[in-house]
Amino acid sequence: MSYGTRVQAISQVTDRKPLPSKIPQRLEALWATDVFTLSKMQASLPKDVFKSVKNTILTGGKLDVSIAGTVAAAMKDWATSKGALYYAHVFYPMTNATAEKHDGFISVQSDGSVITEFTGKVLVQGEPDGSSFPNGGLRSTFEARGYTAWDVTSPAYVMETDNGVTLCIPTVFISWTGEALDKKTPLLRSISSMSKAATRVLKLLGHTEVAPVNSSCGAEQEYFLVDAHFAHSRPDLLLTGRTLFGKPAAKGQQFDDHYFGAIPERVQVFMQEVEERMYRLGIPAKTRHNEVAPGQFEIAPFFEAANVASDHQQLIMTLLKSTAKKHGFVCLLHEKPFAGINGSGKHVNWSVGNATQGNLLDPGDTPHANMQFLLFCGAVIRGVHKYGPLLRAVVATASNDHRLGANEAPPAIISVYLGSQLEKVFDQISQGRIEGSDAPGLMDLGVDTLPVFPKDPGDRNRTSPFAFTGNRFEFRAVGSNQSVSGPLVAMNTILADSLTWVADNLESRMKAGEDLNTAAEGVLKEIMDKHRNVIFGGNGYSPEWHKMAVEERGLANLRTTADALPVLKADYIEELFTRMGVLTPIELESRFDVYAEQYLLAIEVEAKLVVSMAKTIIYPAAVRYLSELSSAIANAAAIGIEMNKESAQTVSNLVKLMMDSVAKLSEAMAKHDFDSIEEHMQYSAQTIRPLMDKVREYADTLEGEVADNFWPLPTYQEMLFVK
Ligand code: ADP
Ligand code: MG
Repeated sequence: MSYGTRVQAISQVTDRKPLPSKIPQRLEALWATDVFTLSKMQASLPKDVFKSVKNTILTGGKLDVSIAGTVAAAMKDWATSKGALYYAHVFYPMTNATAEKHDGFISVQSDGSVITEFTGKVLVQGEPDGSSFPNGGLRSTFEARGYTAWDVTSPAYVMETDNGVTLCIPTVFISWTGEALDKKTPLLRSISSMSKAATRVLKLLGHTEVAPVNSSCGAEQEYFLVDAHFAHSRPDLLLTGRTLFGKPAAKGQQFDDHYFGAIPERVQVFMQEVEERMYRLGIPAKTRHNEVAPGQFEIAPFFEAANVASDHQQLIMTLLKSTAKKHGFVCLLHEKPFAGINGSGKHVNWSVGNATQGNLLDPGDTPHANMQFLLFCGAVIRGVHKYGPLLRAVVATASNDHRLGANEAPPAIISVYLGSQLEKVFDQISQGRIEGSDAPGLMDLGVDTLPVFPKDPGDRNRTSPFAFTGNRFEFRAVGSNQSVSGPLVAMNTILADSLTWVADNLESRMKAGEDLNTAAEGVLKEIMDKHRNVIFGGNGYSPEWHKMAVEERGLANLRTTADALPVLKADYIEELFTRMGVLTPIELESRFDVYAEQYLLAIEVEAKLVVSMAKTIIYPAAVRYLSELSSAIANAAAIGIEMNKESAQTVSNLVKLMMDSVAKLSEAMAKHDFDSIEEHMQYSAQTIRPLMDKVREYADTLEGEVADNFWPLPTYQEMLFVK
């Protein structure tokens, strides 16, 4: 960071022009051109082979490995016709990242000539090694082999970048003994576990034809864009994705003038390119808008089957980052890049359904009469109450801790919001008689030329972490940087458990002579009697709720990752995942180890950077200014003018306070002897983080005292308001 970098960045940013916007192609011409879709398979595969693959994709039948060779050849022909020379098994390690290892189609023949080759064997299974991925002790280095295996249910695609074209094959990543090393394997297991339980319930409700049940996911992704010249002159943004220093600008988001405002031209051109690339990859980009904070935006695709949605979500994050680069931005997916203004989340909209019964969380107009809906919704309520701490644990990261409970994102207390109409129906269930539900009603806007709207019976509540929003639940505590897979696994698994309980309970009641309706009402009443406490329709930000939730309702308030992650090691969670066949105890423990380590590392890197930035960037700038100020005072005194020394005194005091805090932080960081990883996490949360905040507090105050032209780091107002 050289003196003057900031000044240079400002002039470079001011000179920027948006890239020329391309004339958008018709959606139909773009859609899924880079995806090896079912229809492309149909066109290129023999009938029986196609039928077999399609059966696996649509109904979850077992993959017939003997046809892999034929599929591989067709896939290769398609990919090479699009310019691909390489293929990659794409997998999703536990770090929230997307990983890929590229291999060429090249095969050298005995006469020295080459052909392109892609066999069934390499399509189905790969061995990327990948021994450097954290695996929580699942693989020691001498048995470091990890395998990738083709996930037929997520389509292959070609990824075209300025560096070339690669055929990408979504895969699971497992150890040589078959343990999940990734985020996809448990997701697939959780879907099939949930499907089994849901099918049982649907059959008990009298359906004879029941297609496999899948879960759906539509994830709203928030992100910040900062000009690359600014971002690159800030080591904190470069290395940690957030500002470790920076005094909030005089203007933040208080005017709400950014929210849904006109999208800046450069950003719009960027968004259009992201969307075009999404369409080509078959990702249904649907909404885009400015978010609450200046410089913050949101993109949301139309919902899809959870497994595909999860892979697509990873692609969206990759596309946002790589396209931003092209447009001279850095895309920040961090949950809290800037202090004092909103952070970024990823609302995960989630439902379950199938081809025969449709969306199982759709209440219709008369939810009170829709026993099937009530049972599925009741099962969710039961699951969230029983396993609320698990839902908290799967969104626990060092970066998301800045957001949860900061009165902008939901609190760390997991409760369910139902909306007034449904809440009334469940109240009636509690009282033992279901009478009816509020009619949706009409909204007359009082202007003759405007149409009359149907009123939405499920009103909105932005403060709830887990809200019913009409025909799905919206899990709002998920971090913007996270894979959606963990949250989906947790939701599917707790629902699988609850639906199994519902099915068992219905069966035994009916065996005892109850008719279906009485049995179902009995099950629902039992759910309400035990789990009503998790339902909350009020203000989730209020201190009264935080008190009431813990003291009267018995809900957990796990404030930090250090508090939340150990839930993964609790017996009842291990028992849940084992019983539902989603994660073995070893797999679960390895996850705890990996996430805990990520947490410690994230804080360690930040703390180191706080020390070095304070010492090597902020301190020198303050001293330089102090020296100028002191000579001005001395020079003035020499000609008989008495200058006010207060400002110099303040700067000097703050410099001392900041450097004292840096010393304390450095000393605290030297501690390495911990009895357990849990203790280490608590130390990072309770000791290291507050010391980092202290350094920042003095540094940010200094920023308000030191002459602007001496300040070396791009400021909040520059990063947030210059586009
Ligand atoms: P809001 O900002 O009001 O919460 P958005 O329209 O931005 O809503 O996003 C809603 C998301 O929910 C979209 O991705 C949408 O496709 C998704 N969604 C709608 N219905 C379902 C469903 N049944 N299952 C999962 N996601 C759904
Ligand atoms: Mg939302």
